[in-house]
Amino acid sequence: MSDADAALHDALETVVRRNPGQHLFRQAVHEVLESLAPVVKQHPEYVEGGILKRIIEPERVIAFRVPWVDDNGVVQVNRGFRVQFSSDLGPYKGGLRFHRSVDEDTLKFLGFEQVFKNALTGLGLGGGKGGSDFDPHDKSDAEVMRFCQSFMAELAHHIGADLDVPAGDIGVGGREIGYMYGQYRRITGRNEAGVLTGKGVGYGGSWARTEATGYGLVYFVREMLRDTEYSLEGSRVVVSGSGNVAIYAAKKAAQLGATVVACSDSQGYILDEDGLDLDLLSDIKDVRRARLTAYAEERGNCTYVEGRSVWEVECDIALPCATQNELDGDAARLLADNGCRVIAEGANMPCTEEAVEVIHERGILFGPAKAANAGGVATSGLEMRQNAGRLQWDFERVDSELDRIMTTIHATAAATAEEYGAPGDLVAGANIAAFRKVADAMLAQGVI
Ligand code: GLU
Repeated sequence: MSDADAALHDALETVVRRNPGQHLFRQAVHEVLESLAPVVKQHPEYVEGGILKRIIEPERVIAFRVPWVDDNGVVQVNRGFRVQFSSDLGPYKGGLRFHRSVDEDTLKFLGFEQVFKNALTGLGLGGGKGGSDFDPHDKSDAEVMRFCQSFMAELAHHIGADLDVPAGDIGVGGREIGYMYGQYRRITGRNEAGVLTGKGVGYGGSWARTEATGYGLVYFVREMLRDTEYSLEGSRVVVSGSGNVAIYAAKKAAQLGATVVACSDSQGYILDEDGLDLDLLSDIKDVRRARLTAYAEERGNCTYVEGRSVWEVECDIALPCATQNELDGDAARLLADNGCRVIAEGANMPCTEEAVEVIHERGILFGPAKAANAGGVATSGLEMRQNAGRLQWDFERVDSELDRIMTTIHATAAATAEEYGAPGDLVAGANIAAFRKVADAMLAQGVI
């Protein structure tokens, strides 16, 4: 075994030994390390500098109690976390997820992914992730506010505009960010707009931040299709999920001439052969916070298919925008059998490792999450810039910067894949390009 192979093997063994039962974190690390052999072989300084040993261990994991009082006056307790994974390129940056599945494993996987994703944006951002097993969906506004205030009462000690800058993720949108930002100001007594991103545009937020992950995903798909026989125009698209990422991916795909025929929630999916009415969908999900079944009831002439996977719907382009491991090997085979040509990840790690193998075997073009969904955090980086300069750019400016960043990420991943002997493999290209950026910054800054 070469030194490079031995170092990669040791790193994976260490992750398994140190993190018992943390399957998501292991999966995310395994997927990255698998791509790195060619670059680690070419650069022995990465092994000598202990880069692989260091990069798999978060700088810090903060865990805390979040007590709050529900509408019946009953005390509830949730768990809160912030994983500060790497600050080699800049302040820790990454979202907060509020969902019952959240635990340390989930947040370490997401934090690890975020380090590489953020490196690809080129905006000088480290990586982190946080959240809680609190589920805002069945709570009143007042309960969500009390929870957010309690969560921030602890988190405030660990974040700052030049230290760690959280944002939203699943279960954390404009409402939650607003409550947390208010509480941060009250605790610190300071206006420090750059401490959180995803703020409302009326109090320091950036235009196009809400749209950014979904729009960026579709800009990335557009780049994947350049110089191929396929295009978004006239294609049939399926998205999974019906949150922020799914809705704005669908809107941009429709703007570029695609017909988006399906989206989903955790119970089933909507099939609307005429193309989803995206204004109605936004109104139901964002404004009314209602279930997806309301869409079928109001729209008519479409079906809500309960208890089945959205991946059974025939499409040219599939955009998994719901959650991790939502698209498995069987779903990938079904999509391939039904003629799907392109899969790009809007969620973080939505495709299982087996699914990614099938996708490659069947010659489907694949856009990995770290690259394809980097538009959200990239626009957060632009929000931080605006906050630092006390400016607000208009929508067109932010959107065109986002487009430029996504185009560059695609070009970088494609060129890196080519350089390291895997032409067309954007997984290898994105992982290697991001790793090099972080690893070089670590070497330059010494063993810390
Ligand atoms: N939660 C988003 C992500 O997974 C955005 C993070 C951010 O804007 O900091 O990249």
